[in-house]
Amino acid sequence: MEEEKMVFILKKNATETEIDNLEQAILSLGLKYRLVIGVDRITISPIGDEIGTQIENLEAMPGVEAYLKVQKPYKLVSRDSHTQYNHNQTRIVDVKGVKFGGDKPVIIAGPCAIEALVDGKPVHALTEVQSENAEYPIFEIAREMKSLGADMLRGGAYKPRTSPYDFQGLGLEGLKILKQASDETNLPCITEVVDTRDAEKVAEYADMLQIGARNMENFELLKEVGRTKKPVLLKRGKSSTMKEWLLAAEYIIAEGNDNIVLCARGIKNNVSEEYGRNQADFDIIYELRKETYLPVIADPSHIGGERGRIPSLAMSALASGAQGLIIEVMKENAKPVEVLCDFKQSLMPSQMKELMSRIKKEYN
Ligand code: PEP
Ligand code: MN
Repeated sequence: MEEEKMVFILKKNATETEIDNLEQAILSLGLKYRLVIGVDRITISPIGDEIGTQIENLEAMPGVEAYLKVQKPYKLVSRDSHTQYNHNQTRIVDVKGVKFGGDKPVIIAGPCAIEALVDGKPVHALTEVQSENAEYPIFEIAREMKSLGADMLRGGAYKPRTSPYDFQGLGLEGLKILKQASDETNLPCITEVVDTRDAEKVAEYADMLQIGARNMENFELLKEVGRTKKPVLLKRGKSSTMKEWLLAAEYIIAEGNDNIVLCARGIKNNVSEEYGRNQADFDIIYELRKETYLPVIADPSHIGGERGRIPSLAMSALASGAQGLIIEVMKENAKPVEVLCDFKQSLMPSQMKELMSRIKKEYN
């Protein structure tokens, strides 16, 4: 059996004094505690090697709604500690008015990376002079996605690439371009953070932070994005179990940030590369609903690896309960030499249009 964890759930209208008194009472028992001020809940978890039975008496203190023993290692993200949501309900994560976990699937679209073309060719880095004359495909893509009814814009400025020789992203320059494209189209934007040292800077420009599959177990990074309080899209690690994934979310929430959306992006196994890129893992969404109240979306692009495979993967993700999609899109008829990152799996706007109309027909 899993070790029991305890958590005090506070009443919605608990006062500061009531919270203070509970904290003092926990300390007086020789314990420490962790306070999490979430969007819709405040929780206090006692921490200590030996938590005696006396702690249970504190449930009667003013301001406390319940004291729960959670038999999950991930107590804060577990459904058990959020009894206000019924079985199939998840919480709503609001990103500038875009609601993950609401009535409609949230569609995030955009290029894999924010790229710059100088004299028609993509560059790995930009000098100041070049940046003024460069062309940035993300602007056109963003406008097209807006007109198709997408909800958010994606684009990586810091790219975790398998090879050190591949394009690593435009960094700060990329963030600035992303923000401009996002402001211009009024589409909130999401971008990946790969380094703790960049987290604050990325949070200045982006509306939502992505933790990529490779960094799902970068615990210092998880803590750092937890401290920013920006909504986080937490992708599943390439071969992570559900427990490991939810514990990664727990790291973020334990820093006081409960604006978390999970993202299924496939897993690696010894057959997944035979076709596509990763093995679809949408069946986990059913299990996640039982375990957590956090919303979950899916990334068909990094599963499919090839554009022809993306639409059916996207529809099956939604049919499996995904509450949104994140999809890579490039310019119409872009040539392989014009795109540095994930060309093969990027949809063209015309294909995205078709997919959007299938989604709207089914889910609007
Ligand atoms: C991405 O979104 O471009 C990306 C690198 O995704 P993942 O972390 O799922 O591989
Ligand atoms: Mn990509």
